[in-house]
Amino acid sequence: MSEQMQSQTDTGVSNETSNDEEQVIDNFDNMKLKENLLRGIYSIGYEKPSYIQQRGIIPITKGRDIIAQSQSGTGKTATFTIGSLQLLDETKDETQILIIAPTRELALQIYDVVASIGEYMDITHACIIGGTSIRENIETLSKKPQIIIGTPGRLYDMIYKNRLYTKYIKLLVVDEADEMLSKGFEEQIKNIFKSLPPEIQVALFSATMSDDFFMLTDNFMRNPIKILVKNDELTLEGISQYYIYMERDYYKFDALCDLYSSFSISQSILYCNSKRTVEFLQSKLTENNFSNAYIHGDMTLDQRKDIMIRFRTGEIRMLISTDLLCRGIDVQQVSLVINYEVPYRIENYIHRIGRSGRFGRKGVAINFANDREFKMIKDIERYYSTSVEEFPKDVSTIFK
Ligand code: ADP
Ligand code: MG
Repeated sequence: MSEQMQSQTDTGVSNETSNDEEQVIDNFDNMKLKENLLRGIYSIGYEKPSYIQQRGIIPITKGRDIIAQSQSGTGKTATFTIGSLQLLDETKDETQILIIAPTRELALQIYDVVASIGEYMDITHACIIGGTSIRENIETLSKKPQIIIGTPGRLYDMIYKNRLYTKYIKLLVVDEADEMLSKGFEEQIKNIFKSLPPEIQVALFSATMSDDFFMLTDNFMRNPIKILVKNDELTLEGISQYYIYMERDYYKFDALCDLYSSFSISQSILYCNSKRTVEFLQSKLTENNFSNAYIHGDMTLDQRKDIMIRFRTGEIRMLISTDLLCRGIDVQQVSLVINYEVPYRIENYIHRIGRSGRFGRKGVAINFANDREFKMIKDIERYYSTSVEEFPKDVSTIFK
């Protein structure tokens, strides 16, 4: 990793911590990790732990509850993955660790990270998500995988049916925790939590955390270590943000075509607020000979998996999505995010633009804004103390 990247993911932002118990270990070698775990970390090319990894891994291995916030793309997944793998008793064939994520795509991605970091360890792990065969889930769970990664609905279903045995689970990791404790998921997460042993250790991760979130966490966390980021430090310097003002919504499509004809863009995600707009854009872009693909929650798991594989390999360069893909998805080649529509939820803005600029890379975010959306952009600027510039006429400097 270059010095510049390291400074962005590591020291470029000053985070706030809630207590002085914090211990910073800036080297994987000094974390007293299992030999075969350390080997996995180095084998995937990680040299130095990022800011959140320097602070977040140790508390997990020590059995502490933790609330860990850090900017998008700064290595939260490896923080809880390494922590979990260290905590795991490899010799015990019981489910010991449960990792929950809001979408199937994210659960599958985390599953892959666990597999690659844990490659040299003797572990069993499984992904339990919606859209898969219940019979196969039951079969998989009968082997008591040591680490289970999944989405809340299917996980709870398996727990409820006594197929997922929770007695030996010692750590619950919730990725995108603010989303998971928000209205849509709260009930399911509560139910899962209730079915776990009372002494369960809890680790919550996200780039965004609101006051409501902290009120909820107070109810079930035990003296957690908190690693937090202030709102005005949440946007990454490496991601340049722009808006293009559109007097009429129907100008948006032409502007989009102009943009894609003028630049060669490695990979991009185009966000819309509804499945309908996603499909509309897909057909219009195809009509205009722009190769593209789309993804949203009404597609089958196989379709969604296929799209994600082709996007990760680079075959799909322009992917149109709803907020299904706003959180967690890590595709390093994504250099451009377009908000064809500005998201209603202010925190989703942070998550969407954070799909580019992964781990210190450069990214560009462009917002297509009508009058109403222009006001939303102004709110975003204020809330996150960030600046979203007008997209310049001379754009030669933007895509390098
Ligand atoms: P977050 O969850 O914080 O948004 P991710 O966990 O998805 O970020 O990580 C973003 C990218 O950074 C991934 O591609 C991951 O492989 C990479 N990464 C994480 N930690 C390191 C590290 N210590 N060294 C190099 N790359 C890393
Ligand atoms: Mg993440």
